[in-house]
Amino acid sequence: MLTPPKLFVGLILAALLVVTGGAQQTEYDLVLANGRVMDPFTKLDAVRHVGILAGKIAAVSEKPLAGRDVLDVAGKVVSPGFIDLHAHGQTVGDMQIKAQDGVTTVLDLEAGVYPVAPWYKSMEGKAPLNYGATVGHIAARFAAFHPELILGHWPVHRAKAAALGASPAGANKVATDKEMQLMETAITQGLAEGGLGVGFGINYTPAATPSEIERIFKIAAENKVPAFVHTRAFGIAAIREAIDTAKKTGASLHVVHIGSSAISDMPEVLRLLDEQRATGMDLTTEVYPYTAASTTLESAMFDPGWQSNLKIDYGDLAWAATGERLTQETFSRYRKQGGWVIIYMMKDENVEKAIAHPGIMIASDGVPFVDGTGHPRGAGTFARVLGRYSREKKLLSLMDALSKMTILPAQRLEAYVPSMRLKGRLSLGADADITVFDPGLVIDKATFEAPTTPSFGIPHVLVGGVFVVRAGELRTEVRPGRPIRTK
Ligand SMILES: [Zn+2]
Repeated sequence: MLTPPKLFVGLILAALLVVTGGAQQTEYDLVLANGRVMDPFTKLDAVRHVGILAGKIAAVSEKPLAGRDVLDVAGKVVSPGFIDLHAHGQTVGDMQIKAQDGVTTVLDLEAGVYPVAPWYKSMEGKAPLNYGATVGHIAARFAAFHPELILGHWPVHRAKAAALGASPAGANKVATDKEMQLMETAITQGLAEGGLGVGFGINYTPAATPSEIERIFKIAAENKVPAFVHTRAFGIAAIREAIDTAKKTGASLHVVHIGSSAISDMPEVLRLLDEQRATGMDLTTEVYPYTAASTTLESAMFDPGWQSNLKIDYGDLAWAATGERLTQETFSRYRKQGGWVIIYMMKDENVEKAIAHPGIMIASDGVPFVDGTGHPRGAGTFARVLGRYSREKKLLSLMDALSKMTILPAQRLEAYVPSMRLKGRLSLGADADITVFDPGLVIDKATFEAPTTPSFGIPHVLVGGVFVVRAGELRTEVRPGRPIRTK
């Protein structure tokens, strides 16, 4: 359980006190009154009044509280803000769309960034939501092969990588000892600068040999941080490879987007994950609630052999900008041009199994929206799980759904990221990152035709006690987001 930090207790004592009938009562900055408080950390599910003071949760009370601002949220669920461990859209616009989906913290743990310190500096004071990233193996690898190229956060600045063409050395050349050492130095430096673990997209760097991956996993293990991995290929064999490497090196492992990583092997993959977890392995995963994936067409994922790897063909790909299905001819043309594609590759029954499976987190894998195009998962993931998969399909309880979006992702990080111990819960002393939604109405509205349409039924979202969404209105001017880093 949490004990309020000393500074916080001081703030409460110093707070404005109101004298009412001889008794002193704290006046909170904000009171969310009469809501149904659901805290997956303590399993509390009851009508309570939540008092917020200096950006923290200062009271969760059965009795009404006094506040400078009192908002009646009767009939609504008051939940910890959602934590998205897989958010490539680290721009103001992407974050504002995600805020309307109930998200308060966006982390890119798969692609990550390199170099780390300048990226955090570039985000300071500019973010509506809390933000953070791992040190990314892809970007560190490109830096080793293309010293003139600083990828930074490449999903947002992907034009720099795209300019290298469809088969750049950073993705397609086996590393020499010198390049290997450059990479190891880069990863070590990124962790020293506060990176949230090591991110891998092995499928995007096919020339990274198993021994290279093992050497980088070792750095993660030595630093007691997890490896967040998009596996070398799709299906159970590649997931096994990642598990074996983690066990050999002692690294903790998080396999990203299990829906697209496992595809039709989902039942066997879920069994494998459960078996490994039962042996005590620190192994987690996440899923997004869609049957289509999305990535860049120029990436190594579409090097020759992609049809057998993904078990699909040209017609299963759609050009995100127009929605048109591809042919051999348009595939070649667009691959030279570079840009986002939608990949129809999963079965609903397999995605549903992962969403309902105990312990599997919800994470969007939302890619940056460019000119309003992209994949709807960046806008609708969380409301979609709450509305479609919990309320309508009854695949999991509301509390379990919330747990997958709040406390589980917080706990994935909190052993080595102290600030995450104050997130993902609605307990005394926790950060006032709060999402208020209507359990009967919450639903995603984003589609493949209109992917940036905000979700519906989430009237209030607070980050550090500041409204980013209030009464259904996005507050475009606020920037309460803080960095999440290990130090
Ligand atoms: Zn991925």
